Order: sequence, then structure tokens, then C-alpha cells
Amino acid sequence: MKTGRCRCGNRIFFNNHYCLACNATLGRCGPCSALTSFSAIDQSQGCDTCGAATYACTNQVHGVCRSFNAAPNTLCRLCEFTRTTPALSNATNVARWGALEVAKRRLLLQLEELGLPPFVANLNETHPLKFQFIEDSIDSTGRPRRVTTGHKDGLITINLAEADSVHRERVRVQLREPQRTLIGHMRHEVGHYVDWSWASRLAAKDYHRLFGDPLAVDYAAAMGAHYQHGPPADWAQSHVSAYATMHPWEDFAETVNVYLDILAIATTASDVGGRSLDMSPAVDTKQLVSQVLDIVIEVSEYNYDLGLTALLPERLPPAVIEKLAYVHGLRSIKIGPL
Ligand SMILES: [Zn+2]
Ligand SMILES: [Zn+2]
Ligand SMILES: [Zn+2]
Ligand SMILES: [Zn+2]
Repeated sequence: MKTGRCRCGNRIFFNNHYCLACNATLGRCGPCSALTSFSAIDQSQGCDTCGAATYACTNQVHGVCRSFNAAPNTLCRLCEFTRTTPALSNATNVARWGALEVAKRRLLLQLEELGLPPFVANLNETHPLKFQFIEDSIDSTGRPRRVTTGHKDGLITINLAEADSVHRERVRVQLREPQRTLIGHMRHEVGHYVDWSWASRLAAKDYHRLFGDPLAVDYAAAMGAHYQHGPPADWAQSHVSAYATMHPWEDFAETVNVYLDILAIATTASDVGGRSLDMSPAVDTKQLVSQVLDIVIEVSEYNYDLGLTALLPERLPPAVIEKLAYVHGLRSIKIGPL
């Protein structure tokens, strides 16, 4: 994630609320998009980067947003993406919603930076992306109503329980996943959104060759078979995860997930680590992946030093790199208004 600068010169990280050097208020400026410090002016906050008078996003009262907008009593553009929030009657729900908002913001800022949907032409008008963060409940007849995390027609639903690290770890072990994180959920589900919103623009021939024809594989039957028999023994030769083998749609979403992981590492390595990495759409995918995997190997060693898990797989086979190249190529699609 890219960092910003406080008016005192101190570096600002995405998670900082106050400058540790000068105690200035920090946040994201709506008018100029910078991660910046603010100076109080009467009832408003003056952006120290662009000088605009700004006002706290209304979600700041819940502690789930750090944006400042051009007009008072408004939601910021990133909060506007959330259609449904959980019941805010208890502090646990608010804290879990906050954790989901942090992951959602990391996702949206990255998609914008890379020029991927929904930040393409007027795509967010024709195929709006929305999020709902809701919890399991009991309906009026006393039956449990379970919330399934997933994507449908532009709406990403995340079960609020996923923001509970104990729940997440239990499911991770059950499903034998190497990692289970909120940002991972966001990146996977937005992969389905890219698929849905851009389906007519994806190169179908290459999509079918690399991932398979999604309409030729019955989804429910594929899911049943996956959970009954597990993935093929040699799945790692051709897929980024065991789950990706279930269905072409899941393969595409898992590939987008890993592509965004790789680009996130490359962005941080460039901005914080001072490495010079070309992340432009024109760069060769193999070269970019190879540079990032060098970093992954190094950081994973730090993780092992402290008893943590690998950052990402340390090797990716040629078949997976070809799939990543397909996703990378989406950034070069030139389109006008949809
Ligand atoms: Zn400062
Ligand atoms: Zn500004
Ligand atoms: Zn906001
Ligand atoms: Zn999925």
C-alpha cells in the first residue's frame, strides 16, 4: 500500500490515525485523494496537501473510516460502496465492520490504482459494485438464517463472522487453506465481479483455454464433487489453489486474488522498500512475478523466523503464470464509455 506524508515530513502509513511525530490528524482527502495530515480551520479540516476545506465522513463517528470530504455530513466515496452494514447495537459488530471496511478500502484503492473494475470508464454506473456485511440470524419462524460469503450481480456479501479471527482460523484449518484473511476474501470476490462486469470484454477463447468454459460445467455438481473428492493430486501444477480446481469461475477468481496479492507486494516494495519495480500494464508478467517471488522468499524467511506462515507460495508453475498474464492483460484493454 502506498504511503503519504504528514506536514511535518513524517511518513504516513495506511493504518495511522495520528502522526506519531507531531500528533497531527491524518486521513484521506476526498478532493485530492492523498493520504495526508489535516489542520483544523473553524468547523472544517484543511488538507495540508491540496489546501481544500474538508469535513469528516459521517462514518468517522463509528471509527470505521478516516476520510475527509468536500461537503459536511456526507459519506466518502469509499463508504458509498457499502450497501448494508451490520446492526450497530453492540461494540463487537462495530469493530468487525471496521475490520471489513479496512480490507475493503485496501481493495478499492488498489483496483483504482491499477485501472481495474469498477474504476474503468463508467463501469460502476452500468455494473455497480456494492458490499454488504451481515451476520447470521434467526428468522421469524425461529429458523437460523446463514449468510454465505460470495458475489452475485455486483453485490459482494461477507459474513460478519469472518472478521472474527478465531472463527476464521477454525474454518481455515477445516478447509486446509494456507491463509484465510479479510483482504483475501475481498480479492477473491472482486475476481467474480471482474468476471461478471467484464464478461463481454474478456477474451473468451483464451479464457476458455486457460480456465475452462464456465457455462459448460454445472456449478452445483462441481462444488459437490470438490467437497466429496477434494482436488486432483497434481493441482499445484496448474492452479493457484486447491479451491481453484472446483470450477472455471473459481479458478478465475482465485487467479485475480493472487494477482492482486502480487501487485500489493510490488506496490509496498516500491513505496516503502525503495525497490524499483515496473508494475505498468506493459511489463512482462513473468518478470514481475519473478521479482515479487524474490521478495516473497525473503519475507517468508522472516515469517518463519517468528513462527508465522509463508507470505505466498514461493514458486508458481508456468501454467499459473500464464493465467496471471491473462489477468494482467486486462489492464491493457482500452475501452470508452460502456
Ligand atoms: Zn507529523
Ligand atoms: Zn487534499
Ligand atoms: Zn468514509
Ligand atoms: Zn468464489
